[in-house]
Amino acid sequence: MQIISGTAVAEKVIEECRREIAELTAQGRKPGLAVVLVGDDPASRAYVRSKDKKCRDLGLHSVKLELPATTTQEELLAHVRVLNNDPEIHGILVQSPPPKHIDEAAIVRAIDPAKDVDGFHPVNVAKLALEDPTGFVPCTPLGCQRLLIDAGIETSGAHAVVVGRSMIVGKPMALLLMAKGKGGDATVTVTHSRTRDLAAITRTADIIIAAIGRPHFIKAEHVKEGAVVIDVGINRVDDPTSEKGYKLVGDVAYDEVAPKCRAITPVPGGVGPMTIAMLMANTIKACKQSEQR
Ligand code: NDP
Repeated sequence: MQIISGTAVAEKVIEECRREIAELTAQGRKPGLAVVLVGDDPASRAYVRSKDKKCRDLGLHSVKLELPATTTQEELLAHVRVLNNDPEIHGILVQSPPPKHIDEAAIVRAIDPAKDVDGFHPVNVAKLALEDPTGFVPCTPLGCQRLLIDAGIETSGAHAVVVGRSMIVGKPMALLLMAKGKGGDATVTVTHSRTRDLAAITRTADIIIAAIGRPHFIKAEHVKEGAVVIDVGINRVDDPTSEKGYKLVGDVAYDEVAPKCRAITPVPGGVGPMTIAMLMANTIKACKQSEQR
């Protein structure tokens, strides 16, 4: 059984980014990312901090905009417009979830698609479906695909079952896996909460992508011998033995599933580190493409 280390692959992606940044710097260009946080949700704050830190480590131009929870839709839209017009900013992301009074879909649509490094703008969703390489693909599924490629998992002709159909993970994951080419060409089944007899379907999978948001949901009975399992889930569960009082676990019951697998990602240290690495890669891509516009 192979444990696919997201930490190691993410480090490789970051090294590639470092090289590309050095080339861009030599040409007098510097990729810039703006991360906008509205409100003071502690998990979002932590994500924004780590994105900002990674940018700075890499020598990217990083703008962290922390706005109060009382920020109105109009005020947020105005900030997005300023960033859209800022030539030093190539990537913009508004940390999800914003406070309830904010219409998140409208904010995403207001971001210039050429700077939408999260890949959530309708133009980028369409480009993914169209297999247009100039589009931006959401970072988490892009990271999952990269893990499969780096681990030497053949996706061509494989039956991949995606559990979950969110716009952030499940749906773009399915599109990536069915696209033509490297890391694609799979036969894809997408499942969700209305799927009948989920285990019967996942047991036919050569590759399972679990993106459900329920701790330890995928059990040994869901997995055939020799399957590859990518666990996207990040769930907090109580753990009185840890200092924080909780620990992070995946959507897969790792201990019982891993022995059946040909390869599996752990949580933490699997998909998680890939997401931020792919964000850096998308920001560099946005910078490069901005010169071609
Ligand atoms: P969502 O809640 O948006 O989507 C969950 C999906 O799982 C839905 O499509 C839902 O179906 C499906 N689902 C729920 N219950 C069942 C069930 N009993 N059987 C089958 N399918 C079910 O979550 P996300 O896609 O945003 O995230 C999924 C997980 O990935 C979470 O743990 C999240 O924390 C993690 N995540 C990790 C990231 C990373 O960086 N590693 C980034 C993003 C997410 P339906 O559509 O019918 O409701």
